[in-house]
Amino acid sequence: MESFSLLGSTGSIGTQALEVARKHNLRVTGLAGNRNIRALENQVREFKPKLVCIYDDTLYKDLKTNLADTNTKVLSGMDGLCEIAVDKSAEIMLNSVVGMVGLLPTLSAIAVGTPIALANKETLVAGGQIVMDACKRKNVTIYPVDSEHSAIFQCLQGNNRNQLNKVILTASGGPFFNKTKQDLQNVTVSQALNHPNWSMGSKITIDSATLMNKGLEFIEAKWLFDLEPSQIEIVIHRQSVLHSAVEYKDYSVIGQLGFPDMKIPIQYALLYPNRMDCPTKRLSLTDFGTLTFEKPDYDTFECLSACIDAITVGGLYPCIANASNEVAVYSFLNGQIKFLQIAEVVKNTIKHFDFKVPTGYGDIVRTDKSAREFAKELISKM
Ligand code: MG
Repeated sequence: MESFSLLGSTGSIGTQALEVARKHNLRVTGLAGNRNIRALENQVREFKPKLVCIYDDTLYKDLKTNLADTNTKVLSGMDGLCEIAVDKSAEIMLNSVVGMVGLLPTLSAIAVGTPIALANKETLVAGGQIVMDACKRKNVTIYPVDSEHSAIFQCLQGNNRNQLNKVILTASGGPFFNKTKQDLQNVTVSQALNHPNWSMGSKITIDSATLMNKGLEFIEAKWLFDLEPSQIEIVIHRQSVLHSAVEYKDYSVIGQLGFPDMKIPIQYALLYPNRMDCPTKRLSLTDFGTLTFEKPDYDTFECLSACIDAITVGGLYPCIANASNEVAVYSFLNGQIKFLQIAEVVKNTIKHFDFKVPTGYGDIVRTDKSAREFAKELISKM
């Protein structure tokens, strides 16, 4: 792979992907950011992509003016993201936008046969069935970028998928590991944003504190690797060194380890199947000394159990869980609700909707919208 497009280029995954691009002289054909116009402009000047998109339409004119002296075509909004997604000059598209916004660009890239390096977990959570069906139809591969799914993907290499028993999805446990519900009553935003091992964007950091992130990853693993929910075991591993593992029929367990740095899975997805020097720290097992493994506390971290229930029942429930969580997380970040109320919003939104199997993209978008509206209504009464 020599060229790629990058949606979400100013975010945490995006900037690390560009470090990988610098290291290996990869050509960036398209860049897209949300609203950080200054960072996006600098990236365009450095990487000279064919296309750039600013998702926030109100900033389009400014970006176009600022980049008037370059050869890069300036786009905006969802149309812009999709124009980058269908542009065939990219050999692979890295999708690292946050939230449901990522679903349509993913489907658009698959439709033209472009493989995806996927860091946008919400879209597989909400649209898993239609995304995987589209991949099968178009014979398109999704290379997972999330560290856990990359680990599972790596452990599957060179083995027979049919001889897999289960996957062991590791979780750091977040900043509130071992806390009780009582302890979590009055958690502040800055406490929740203080993740022990990973440096990430604020949405996913809150999701890591509630363990919603692991719930979303559970659903994502189900779709990516075609698993039954009963084949996924979640294990709390505080050091984030074993990024996940798989167990085969002979009870051999194969895991992938590394220093907790997203550049390793990003690079593996972009350069697959090659393993090249990566701009990261090497893992020293003796520096860590002890690796620990524990069971998750499903009663305290109810977002996790809500996600497992949602995918076990199936249909549109994972979409509803994701949508209500997105609304609840931003309300928590804005100080509108308390930490434990995030799970309350997710559970009660799920409860409100009847079981339904998604018929297509439109159905998912409509359900996502009604779940958000219902969650907002719940929050306004809290
Ligand atoms: Mg992860």
